[in-house]
Amino acid sequence: MQDWLRQQLAERRAADLYRQRRTLRGAQQPEVDVEGRQLLAFCSNDYLGLANHPDVKSAFVRAADTYGVGSGASHLVCGHSHEHHALEDELAAFTGRDRALLFSTGYMANTGVINALVGKGDAVFEDKLNHASLLDGGLSSGAKFQRFLHSDVAQLARKLDATAAAKKLVVVDGVFSMDGDLAPLDVIAPECANKRAWLMVDDAHGLGVLGKTGAGCAEHFALDQQQLPVLMGTFGKAFGTFGAFVAGSDDLIETLIQLTRTYIYTTALPPAVAAATRASLKLIQTETWRREALHARIAQFRSGARQLGLQLMDSDTAIQPILLGDAGRALAWSEKLAELGLWVGAIRPPTVPAGSARLRVTLSAAHTEIQVRQLLDGLASVERELGS
Ligand SMILES: *Cc1c(COP(=O)(O)O)cnc(C)c1O
Repeated sequence: MQDWLRQQLAERRAADLYRQRRTLRGAQQPEVDVEGRQLLAFCSNDYLGLANHPDVKSAFVRAADTYGVGSGASHLVCGHSHEHHALEDELAAFTGRDRALLFSTGYMANTGVINALVGKGDAVFEDKLNHASLLDGGLSSGAKFQRFLHSDVAQLARKLDATAAAKKLVVVDGVFSMDGDLAPLDVIAPECANKRAWLMVDDAHGLGVLGKTGAGCAEHFALDQQQLPVLMGTFGKAFGTFGAFVAGSDDLIETLIQLTRTYIYTTALPPAVAAATRASLKLIQTETWRREALHARIAQFRSGARQLGLQLMDSDTAIQPILLGDAGRALAWSEKLAELGLWVGAIRPPTVPAGSARLRVTLSAAHTEIQVRQLLDGLASVERELGS
């Protein structure tokens, strides 16, 4: 075992795939203190700048005063508090669904829900670029697991036609996390309805960002509970907190409460996290200027990066990758940027397909126009030094 561990590490180092953590000494915000050094970060998923918002923090502190820290048990035993319940009601109203159900993490929501809905004799269809948690859920479910090429609805339709499975579940990211593009839900949803398949969408990166009120891809494409029956979202991104939920019909939520192992066999989120998330939800709905600021920064970045001749992807969201190809190259760019005080993550295989390593720039409403300018100046200087 010891030899195997060393060999694993050596192989990853040699392939430029070794991953390391940097330690923050302060809140998640554009200017972060990383091991005593100030860096300007373009890599968090705090798209609306809510992770360190005073209202969100004070809701958290007040609820900790009332409820303590730990929830003490799973939801079904005795850990389901008023804060959890109120958040579920508010999320249902926000997403236009009958009900919502909280989960401890998005990873658990995805694996648990897919496993609850399909099993042996069923079929699950997933986009190749789906988040790892969706792929893991599909693979572990016992249902026939079929991947289709990224956003290739014609191929999905052929696979749906060819199956004799009892139940069919189509699963996609609403916004793909490493590319930033949207799933073509306006085409996928009717296709699913035609073929009597259920559609599940993971909207981790769309919630708070897309749609007039920030209700995400369902709002963006105007898909109701019938057209998009299983809507999943997370709180770790635009909400700036922690946790996840699934929203849908009353029957769906009641069934998930009975069957979902990652819901039943785990401790409920701390009630204070639910209270903080309620405060975030209020800000998402009322402070529309945050979405407007984010979209202004996105437009500024894209136009500046295009002028530099950088290879952007087809994304209008906060996720703005710069394609570099080779893992070593992505790492070199990221390291040069860090020398300039800019923190942009290098995303390498297996997170993305081999040969498509990239810098993953993420933007936030909390970034100023000047900070985005600083990033563009940094990229220009790295480009001069390393070539594109
Ligand atoms: C972050 C993310 C998840 C996981 O959510 P956590 O709450 O962090 O576990 C799931 N799906 C997508 C698309 C994500 O980006």
